[in-house]
Amino acid sequence: MLYFDANATTPCAPEVQEAMRPYWSGAFANASSPHRAGRMAAQAVAVARRSVAECLDARPQEIVFTSGATESTNLVFWGLLLAPRTRRHVVVSSIEHKAVLESAALLEEQGFDVTRLPVTPDGVVDLDAAARVITQETALVSVQAANNEIGTIQPVLPLARLAHQAGAFFHVDAVQALGKMPVSMRDWECDFASFSAHKIYGPKGIGALFVNGGPLRWPWPRPLRGGGQEGGLRPGTLNVPGIVGFGTACEMLRRRPVNTLETITSLRNLLEKNLVHIYKDDIFIIGNSSLRLPNTLTVAIKDTSAELIISTIKNCMLGRSSACMGNSKITSHVLKALGLPDNTGENVIRISLLESVTQDEITKFIHFLQDAITTVRRIK
Ligand code: PLP
Repeated sequence: MLYFDANATTPCAPEVQEAMRPYWSGAFANASSPHRAGRMAAQAVAVARRSVAECLDARPQEIVFTSGATESTNLVFWGLLLAPRTRRHVVVSSIEHKAVLESAALLEEQGFDVTRLPVTPDGVVDLDAAARVITQETALVSVQAANNEIGTIQPVLPLARLAHQAGAFFHVDAVQALGKMPVSMRDWECDFASFSAHKIYGPKGIGALFVNGGPLRWPWPRPLRGGGQEGGLRPGTLNVPGIVGFGTACEMLRRRPVNTLETITSLRNLLEKNLVHIYKDDIFIIGNSSLRLPNTLTVAIKDTSAELIISTIKNCMLGRSSACMGNSKITSHVLKALGLPDNTGENVIRISLLESVTQDEITKFIHFLQDAITTVRRIK
């Protein structure tokens, strides 16, 4: 079975599972307990924190472990919401993940002004529009580093600078970027960033919030209250196995062959070239060709139902433009933001490759897809 839905999630690597194993039973102690076993658990967390920090080009004390990017992002928006006297304008891009868009909508319900930045037809945030809308009233700018549906890469540093020039904070949703492009908290000059381990061969239900300067520099009231763990920003007993798994996944990321991204780019390009050659004007590639994640290829196939392709294709797991869309026929907000016609989503499939993909798998996939398209068109 081929798995071509890596942007939805990745398998938890065997090495990661192995590293986590002791912390379920033998070394189960609470990382806050003062006894020896507790100190050992705390030590494992400290090692993982250093590993994650190194991957993000951050300092260990700037990493707050959470249950994933959704929670990390919610913490940022809830913090702002709770701030008693603050600017009341927020800027997000129109192609953010729902974790950001719904958090922004919450602020809007509470009286904030929210501006949703337009993107170019090939899915890149319009910097001129950003410069026009970010003002002295703006409290927070939140833009993703890379898009989950179409893989486009956003100009993070210029946006962070625009935010800071106006005295606003900058949050980046870096979930899809980690492992697929260079990620650096220092180079990106961001205040906050959200991450999930399950996109980089780590376990589900664990992630991180990067806070520039660490929780002591958190500018707003703390939204969650409890035992004070994670600098008081994410109280609650630490998920030691998950944290160890995240740390190990980051270690593997640092140690993987240096040409990993080049290899995956060339295999993705090979796939794209073949599909364009076979389907010519019947296939439309969505998203900027150079500012795009190396593993992502999102295509609209003329007059062919994506839902039917996905249910018909043999031996392959494939995504719609976003995993969250399920089987719905609705065109996602991302495709709409590109200005594509309202029914485009019906024909869009997202092909997102795992790091381990091979040329043989690409060849097999092309055959499986061709068979599925032929079958679907015959049904029609
Ligand atoms: N942001 C982006 C860009 C994502 O792709 C995802 C997950 O698909 C999330 C946020 C949310 O991550 P999680 O579901 O792990 O909280």
